[in-house]
Amino acid sequence: MSEGKKITKETHGLRVNDYPIIPFIEGDGTGPEIWQAAQSVFDAAVSKVSGGCRQVIWKELLAGEKAFKQTGEWLPEQTLTAIKEYLVAIKGPLMTPIGGGFRSLNVTMRQVLDLYVCLRPVRYFQGVPSPLKHPERTDMVIFRENTEDIYAGIEFANGTPEVQKLLDFLKDELDVTKIRFPESSSLAIKPVSQEGTHRLVKAAIDYALLEKKPSVTLVHKGNIMKYTEGGFKNWGYDIAEKDYGNQVFTWRQYEAIKSDKGVDAAEAALKEAEQTGRLIINDVIADNFLQQILLRPENFSVVATLNLNGDYISDALAAQVGGIGIAPGANINYDTGHAIFEATHGTAPDIAGLNKANPSSVILSGAMMFDYLGWQDVSQLIVEALEQTIQDKTVTSDFATQMAEAKEVSTTEFAKCVIANM
Ligand code: NAD
Repeated sequence: MSEGKKITKETHGLRVNDYPIIPFIEGDGTGPEIWQAAQSVFDAAVSKVSGGCRQVIWKELLAGEKAFKQTGEWLPEQTLTAIKEYLVAIKGPLMTPIGGGFRSLNVTMRQVLDLYVCLRPVRYFQGVPSPLKHPERTDMVIFRENTEDIYAGIEFANGTPEVQKLLDFLKDELDVTKIRFPESSSLAIKPVSQEGTHRLVKAAIDYALLEKKPSVTLVHKGNIMKYTEGGFKNWGYDIAEKDYGNQVFTWRQYEAIKSDKGVDAAEAALKEAEQTGRLIINDVIADNFLQQILLRPENFSVVATLNLNGDYISDALAAQVGGIGIAPGANINYDTGHAIFEATHGTAPDIAGLNKANPSSVILSGAMMFDYLGWQDVSQLIVEALEQTIQDKTVTSDFATQMAEAKEVSTTEFAKCVIANM
């Protein structure tokens, strides 16, 4: 067996050897069970497509409860250093330690590595139980900004000297009189920057152009929060028009033509843009978007949005196509190449140790990872085998309870069935 080589970032992408070293964190709760199941699927797929000529050299990193038990720390420095060094990692869910000194292990990793895109593809797998009549119409890729917004964690509790200082500053220096109950208010700051928006929207546009998607939709609440969410919309349009020229046609350009030359001219320009294969960049207010994804999901393809909106949208969309047991995700910095692929659900403590959790979320996160590494042959095989297994109605209990004539299998058996379908 080869010793393995580090994945490195070159100017034009990642350099991945046939024996890449990939760190993994098994995670807490159901994490170890679903990780082991998923790893067996990954190894089988890599071996099958390469005839044994490629292999991932897995390197375990500690985080969460396992780390705390062994080292006294929830997120040891060595773990972060190793991810920095090896570039790409995959993880199971981690519990959020109560009173551990930080808000969340996941958020810490995203911030330390500046993983500014939270990437969530949402598509339907035939046979998965869904509350919709036509779940197959939902096929979107969400680019959620991962480092800014109200999630930056700049928050002050009511009644503290800090919040009082901030209240005084707002009143005395900025004439703010709109805080309804200042005596008992907690306050939070919502930073949204031009650079943060540009890099996120560029990642979404680059992806859409590469994958030949029809549109990128900027989802925001700029009608109310004019400078933060409205800034996101305007800066998104700015970068699209400035950096992508004739490759895109924006809704802002449409509106400008409409007010200049009338609606017919704007419609003609839009039609021409569509016919010549330009990527359409439009925007939707977040509340309307949440209606539209239920009523007309086929109208949306790639979505770029801020942190909090993205959190709600990802889970709402995941529910439309079968829930969190099958929703994969990744946190990526496209500039440095750093990426952590992860199950989007939590540790599922209620079923931990019972060998019944659905490993599909980690399996599909792994498929995304192989895509990212340029091993599309591996990801395709994994996705097809998983799809076949679900179509055969061989599923874990979360799906079996909602499907007619399903065969319920354990986490381990499910992975074996996926491998048998390769
Ligand atoms: P959860 O996602 O763990 O569980 C919610 C429900 O979904 C439970 O009924 C659970 O049994 C079910 N479920 C989740 N994953 C499943 C799977 N793979 N197969 C079958 N059923 C599954 O959410 P929670 O209970 O709110 O959170 C538990 C812990 O996980 C908390 O400590 C939380 O902070 C953490 N968490 C971690 C992540 C992450 O690591 N990315 C994400 C969310 C929550």
